[in-house]
Amino acid sequence: MKTLGLIGGLSWESSTEYYRYINTFVKEELGGLNSAKCLMHSFNFAEIVEMQHNGEWEKATQAMVDAAKKLEGGGADAIVICTNTMHKMADDLEKNVVIPLIHIADATAAKIKEQGLDAVGLLGTNFTMEQDFYKERLKKHGIDVVVPDGEDRKIVHNVIYEELCQGVVKESSKKAYLEILSRLADKGAQGVVLGCTEIPLLINQNDTSMPLFDTTYLHSKAAAEFAMK
Ligand code: GLU
Repeated sequence: MKTLGLIGGLSWESSTEYYRYINTFVKEELGGLNSAKCLMHSFNFAEIVEMQHNGEWEKATQAMVDAAKKLEGGGADAIVICTNTMHKMADDLEKNVVIPLIHIADATAAKIKEQGLDAVGLLGTNFTMEQDFYKERLKKHGIDVVVPDGEDRKIVHNVIYEELCQGVVKESSKKAYLEILSRLADKGAQGVVLGCTEIPLLINQNDTSMPLFDTTYLHSKAAAEFAMK
């Protein structure tokens, strides 16, 4: 089995989900006492959020590259960035390590295509919804992406940082997200990418008939499959 190098703590609320999913997939496949071989570099999220919100992207990129190098040096066979937002610097990481990076948007796109969809809504941080790095990666797979309007984006973003990443799950936020989902459907979305690894803590497939793409689950699955290949 290969060893996964997880970059976590972004936030730890979703890193625990990655750890649980990856080990569950390995146990389901291999049975018995089998579990995943992995290393995790877990950040202090407060420090990263400060860089993000101050626009200190070079500093954030350096921190991510350093983490990837440490994981590689420690024996990891692949890098798994346990967040959508920090895939903004996925290319920089790939340039600085020899081992492969398992990209969250590729794992998600594969599932969207498998379901025969070609236009999805995207919920995530403002960085993910507004900048190109994530939408373009999905577009490369032939998938059109629509994002919520300005006010709705603000709600989605604030709920992530002020609630979900702090372990707070509110019924009122769930209702707001579900209303945003229906507005995305009005804009042509056939399904919605939960493009922030904490959003599945708030909404899941039982809440809506729209196909949802849980990036935490899909990325963890891709990572576990790589490890067992
Ligand atoms: N985990 C979230 C994501 O998937 C946000 C945390 C971050 O800013 O990296 O985008």
